[in-house]
Amino acid sequence: MKKDQDSLQRFVFENTPVRGNLVNLSHTLQFALNKQNLPAGLKRSLGELMAASALLSATLKMNGSLILQIQSKGVLKLLVVECTTDGDAPLKMRATAKWTGEISDQADLFDLISQGQCIITLDPQDGTQTYQGIVPLEGNSVSALLENYMLRSEQIDTRIWLCCDGESAAGMLLQKLPDTMNQTTVQTDSDVWNRVGHLASTVTDDELLNLPAEILLTRLFHEEDVRLFNASNTQFYCACSRNSVANMLRMLGNEELDSILVEQGQIEVNCDFCNSHYAFDKIDAAQLLMTPAAAPGSPEVH
Ligand SMILES: [Zn+2]
Repeated sequence: MKKDQDSLQRFVFENTPVRGNLVNLSHTLQFALNKQNLPAGLKRSLGELMAASALLSATLKMNGSLILQIQSKGVLKLLVVECTTDGDAPLKMRATAKWTGEISDQADLFDLISQGQCIITLDPQDGTQTYQGIVPLEGNSVSALLENYMLRSEQIDTRIWLCCDGESAAGMLLQKLPDTMNQTTVQTDSDVWNRVGHLASTVTDDELLNLPAEILLTRLFHEEDVRLFNASNTQFYCACSRNSVANMLRMLGNEELDSILVEQGQIEVNCDFCNSHYAFDKIDAAQLLMTPAAAPGSPEVH
């Protein structure tokens, strides 16, 4: 019954302000994980954060990038997921993690975090202003964190369920649109939000990971009038390039680049997301310092 394709799928409860999304990431997660050597305990957290990012991206009517970062001074230093939406094209995703020391297979993400914060960045493709929100790391799960964020900053009631078994990640999101929207068409069903939330909370990790969307929704909400939309795809994609790395190096400046060249003979940069390797020798470095930097907004390498 395992689904063979990664999918992101929207559904609505007819004639109510409640909508939802389902995500299932298998190939996308595998590609991201194959590029780096993460402890098992972190693979699950990264998978859950990828599922959460895809769900949030799907709720935004925006072409551009959503970046979810968890930064901390504990064993975990950084978890970052970037999702890029471009019309009907598959959702592009990349992700990486930084940590120090040992992480056990059963590690709970929130035990690895100390003095942490979650940063949500929205970078629209149309050139309008980048938005950045900082979310305190309250609660004890990524779901709780994002539910709080949506309520506080967007005033939208949201429930999120996430899971990852290290091979696949999956999630479900429910949202209640604000009362001001669709007032004329929405019938009064004051209980619907509590009712579907209660039904949804019976979902198991196994169901989220393994059931096709239509079967899952029927099982959870069989007395509700649910409309499921066509699924869209997701894929691993890293936007790094020799050009974007050159831009980053330009920002380091002449002196810094010279000292690296003297010390190491050449400048080497590895992309944390896709593990691509870029090398610049003395001639390359001289050339890139003579060329002006490209316009801002080009992909960055961490
Ligand atoms: Zn890359």
